Amino acid sequence: MAEIIDGRAVADEVVQTVKRLTGELVDARAITPGLAVVIVGEDPASQVYVSSKGRKAKECGFHSVQHTLPAETSEEQLVAIVHDLNADPAIHGILVQLPLPAHIDAGRIIQTIAPEKDVDGFHYINVGKLGTGELDTAFVPCTPAGSMLLIERVRGKDLSGLSAVVVGRSNIVGKPMANLLLAANCTVTIAHSRTKDLPALARTADILVAAVGRPEMIKGDWVKPGATVIDVGINRIAAPEKGEGKSRLVGDVAFAEAEKAAGAITPVPGGVGPMTIALLMANTLVSAYRAAGLKRPT
Ligand code: NDP
Repeated sequence: MAEIIDGRAVADEVVQTVKRLTGELVDARAITPGLAVVIVGEDPASQVYVSSKGRKAKECGFHSVQHTLPAETSEEQLVAIVHDLNADPAIHGILVQLPLPAHIDAGRIIQTIAPEKDVDGFHYINVGKLGTGELDTAFVPCTPAGSMLLIERVRGKDLSGLSAVVVGRSNIVGKPMANLLLAANCTVTIAHSRTKDLPALARTADILVAAVGRPEMIKGDWVKPGATVIDVGINRIAAPEKGEGKSRLVGDVAFAEAEKAAGAITPVPGGVGPMTIALLMANTLVSAYRAAGLKRPT
């Protein structure tokens, strides 16, 4: 049976480290890391994400600001708010919660965020730095960065020569994940909806990352014996066994089958999910260190 990778425990360690380093920064330089989260509209899932980011920021000892804007906010108004945050020295990280209402060009908003405050890592400058391997000055998107930490917990820092298959090629998970694995000297294959014979490809992976958004798509016999399986997927499915109208969360991997073959595997929930928010805190701290002219903390 596989080792179950406890994302909650690792995320908590990350948060404790961020807290400690925040205290050191405040004591040494009187600088408090500041995170601004902007939400437009009333998407219930986004509201839950935003409030948990705010709570975690406070727990880390950050200056935490939330801008809650009505759904009818114009693109120009949102651009103006981002400009204000870019210019605010008390803010080191800016996050605009996606999705935005359809009348707002999300791409334009992301590119309006100053790259040095883009703690989500979605600005072209940060995407380019990750793509060219300039990891020391990039902001890496939080979900793949958190997934990478989990992989290193299991495999150690030296991933040289391992075969990695990333299923999914989105800009926020699949592609940055593949770039991180490449930077770590893995031999990386990116799979997507047009990939032929995905089960056979998946079986070649020492590290298999699933970021698809399809419940339990990756079956146990797609997993190479001993592989490290990172399940990024979060899918809500009906759970009639829990009662009428009830639901539960599952990943993109058929966990019960896959854990029999894998060497290590992340559960859903409790795997990658908690890492995403922890890495957002870590990125904000790094931004504050950089703004103070200090070396990036490790
Ligand atoms: P996207 O929908 O943007 O991308 C999904 C990718 O999966 C696409 O590249 C798509 O291929 C590929 N895909 C779809 N169907 C298949 C298939 N049958 N076979 C192979 N590949 C397929 O999703 P995201 O990357 O945003 O998210 C992926 C999952 O991760 C979701 O469940 C999401 O909820 C979760 N997630 C979790 C986070 C966390 O904090 N743990 C954070 C972000 C996302 P193609 O490009 O060809 O269409």
